[in-house]
Amino acid sequence: MEAQRRRTRQAPIDMQPEEFRALGYQLIDRITAFMTALPQKPVATDKSPAELRTLLGEMTLPEHGQDPASLLNRAADLLFDHSVHLAHPHFWGYIAGTPAPIGSLGDLLAAAVNPNVGGWMLSPMATEIEAQTIRWLGELIGYGTNCSGVLVSGGNMANFVPFLAARKAKTPWPVREGGLVAGEGRRLRVYASDQTHTWLQKAADLFGLGTDSIRWLPTDDQLRLDPTALRRQLEADSAKGDIPFLVIGTAGSTGVGAIDPLPEIAAICREYDLWFHVDGAYGAAAGVLGPDAPPELAALPEADSIALDPHKWLYVPLEAGAVLVRDANRLVDAFAYHPEYYPDQSDKISYHEYGLQNSRDFRALKVWLALQQVGRQGYRQMIAEDIRLAKTLYHLAETHPELEAFTHSLSITTFRYTPQGLPKGNEAVEDYLNDLNKALVEQFHTSPDAFLSNAVINGKYVMRMCIVNFRTSIEDIEALPDIVVAMGRQMDGRLRPDDLCGKEQAQ
Ligand SMILES: *Cc1c(COP(=O)(O)O)cnc(C)c1O
Repeated sequence: MEAQRRRTRQAPIDMQPEEFRALGYQLIDRITAFMTALPQKPVATDKSPAELRTLLGEMTLPEHGQDPASLLNRAADLLFDHSVHLAHPHFWGYIAGTPAPIGSLGDLLAAAVNPNVGGWMLSPMATEIEAQTIRWLGELIGYGTNCSGVLVSGGNMANFVPFLAARKAKTPWPVREGGLVAGEGRRLRVYASDQTHTWLQKAADLFGLGTDSIRWLPTDDQLRLDPTALRRQLEADSAKGDIPFLVIGTAGSTGVGAIDPLPEIAAICREYDLWFHVDGAYGAAAGVLGPDAPPELAALPEADSIALDPHKWLYVPLEAGAVLVRDANRLVDAFAYHPEYYPDQSDKISYHEYGLQNSRDFRALKVWLALQQVGRQGYRQMIAEDIRLAKTLYHLAETHPELEAFTHSLSITTFRYTPQGLPKGNEAVEDYLNDLNKALVEQFHTSPDAFLSNAVINGKYVMRMCIVNFRTSIEDIEALPDIVVAMGRQMDGRLRPDDLCGKEQAQ
């Protein structure tokens, strides 16, 4: 036999090794230059959809193939110059982590090897790496290593999977076969605070319960779920024959980073035999702080399941969400089928039995690499620094005559611009401040200087800064109040109605 058979097929999509190497080096050189220049570049683009389409060109699908080198170069140009840059030191909008460079390289490696992490058979090493990653995530946040789980696309999916596991585990009839109608009018009920992320509506809708099955519970003045209201609602629903099955505690709300009283919720779930799920998509990562973590996180080990987004506060590139569960069987019970076309490999992990996906990418690799590059100490340092910076901004806003500080929790700070000389507590003034701050936030979505988002707190529209950004430093935070105030004065000059009191005192 010849050592190497002559290969006759020439697929147009294939690349010769020399070409691949040359293109790869070129691309890495360009990415490196881009990352080096990024802090001096605008954080966002101010181009309209129409302008971007013009740049793209209104062409039809190419009939014939094109040179890959120029395609890659053009793609890089388009993206480097017309993106909102999550890797920029001044990106503080929503809860979107700055991508770790090792994660970008990990994604390249994962895509090159391309294991299908749906079944062990197609991804032996990748499956074991994902299992180790899941255990490490549990260890990192204080959930413990005796946990299982699965990586998913992000927080929404990381909450959907436990929602379905809870539905299967706690419904007193065979819900996977009978569906919800088998309940004969008895309604499944899910409990969460009115601050819970909108994934919950999607889940209740998609999985057949309907959004009316959600009991939205009131929150206290710090926007944390009220456990007394939870107990009262559970009693009332059980008394009329409904079936409570799931309680959600949020660890780090999307709005202001509030952490629900998880120990009290855990105790109620034990008492009523309910599934206790923690939506820690953002805030569970702060569990790495151990004794210095917010005290409510000490109850994380009591959760039946936790959602945690490595693409938020673990700084891994999109997409990476994680489901952690105490008992892997609860996932298999909720998701597994055994078609003839898959071999029975019950002694091995097959991730298609752990969730909604069948074919799965190898997103574990970038998480696994990042966890090892910095270790527990590295994450402890970065997360503590993000929290400290958010706190510094709170103090700066508190002491600035034209800013009003609202909240600081975890790495989220909320504040608003309040021009001097406006009377307090006047409804027309409050309406105007809402309009003014809304206009400012919109401007911050296309500003070159900083990217911020918003929250609404007791009817007040405020600016919201979330630091899940290991590139932000104290100088960036100290510069922000002046940027906000300069923009605020301009906007106030433009927007303030003549009949609003205080106009004559405006500067
Ligand atoms: C961001 C977030 C989600 C949704 O996560 P995605 O990754 O955007 O799907 C859910 N819950 C909380 C608390 C979040 O902060």
